[in-house]
Amino acid sequence: MDPTPINKPISRLGLYDALLPCSSEAVFSPRVFLMPAVHNWLDSMKSSSPTHRKLAKDDTSATDVAVGYCNWLLKYPSALASFDHIMNNAKGKRIALFLDYDGTLSPIVDNPDLAFMSHDMRDAVKNVAKHIPTAVISGRSRDKVHEFVGLEELYYAGSHGMDIMCPGKEGEEGNLFQPASEFLPMIDEVFTSLVEITKDIKGAKVENNKFCISVHYRNVDEKSWQTIAQYVQNILKQYPRLRLTHGRKVLEVRPVLKWDKGKAVEFLLESLGLSNCEDVLAIYIGDDRTDEDAFKFLREGGGGIGILVSSSPKESSAFYSLRDPSEVMEFLKLL
Ligand SMILES: [Mg+2]
Repeated sequence: MDPTPINKPISRLGLYDALLPCSSEAVFSPRVFLMPAVHNWLDSMKSSSPTHRKLAKDDTSATDVAVGYCNWLLKYPSALASFDHIMNNAKGKRIALFLDYDGTLSPIVDNPDLAFMSHDMRDAVKNVAKHIPTAVISGRSRDKVHEFVGLEELYYAGSHGMDIMCPGKEGEEGNLFQPASEFLPMIDEVFTSLVEITKDIKGAKVENNKFCISVHYRNVDEKSWQTIAQYVQNILKQYPRLRLTHGRKVLEVRPVLKWDKGKAVEFLLESLGLSNCEDVLAIYIGDDRTDEDAFKFLREGGGGIGILVSSSPKESSAFYSLRDPSEVMEFLKLL
């Protein structure tokens, strides 16, 4: 099915409404996001950046961790153990697959430039894409995630879905959809300011993901986290149309726009001609807070299921879970 052209209205989505900046009452109001005191931001930075659990020092705590994970699996069953059940639900339906990149297809690594996916994982994605329409949706820039994955046959959505490329027919250009294009000059300006202001903070890394900026603090001493939060907030005070969100050890600056990974999934399903929930099962696999928007969309009538990648218990709108990227690969091989 041909992707929907960029300028064609999308009825089911109410797309034009979605492109309007949020009102001041909306949950994404910059005032809501930018006003909290820095110490609140620091708490958020800590809580939104779970480190992998250190190996317990004694067997008792190790057992507690294992029991905790097993109990959590009762609520979010393993997608591997539940594979037959998932396929039963998919009977007579077409499947569409949506994959996050970091922490889902690739391991989380200290240097985001080195988050490569394995050859085996690439093969697994390539094979599944032969019979299931497959999209990669990442917070990274579309070019970067395309470079990492390196498969031409996929749909790519970068910048948390704000930069979508649908593959064209053979020999033709693909279709591009960029709901936040007017923000580009502003994002570039803020990126330059953030690079300048954080240059003396050891380990800080500012990444321009085209429609969002990532300020990575994974390699920054915790004593300097407050400084980073303060710097970013100070700059954003001058840009009320940008907002700040958290990922895993990363602060992200994004346009104030009702657009997220959930909207991107909705748009892609529409583009693929798979928006009829009755005969489509959409599967979204992701590990991060930003993936929750997609999980939520699928749970609330989007005609699909979310699979959370996590090795420790956490609340989610996903239905199922996988422990880590190696389990993701096993799941893809089964599809
Ligand atoms: Mg991720």
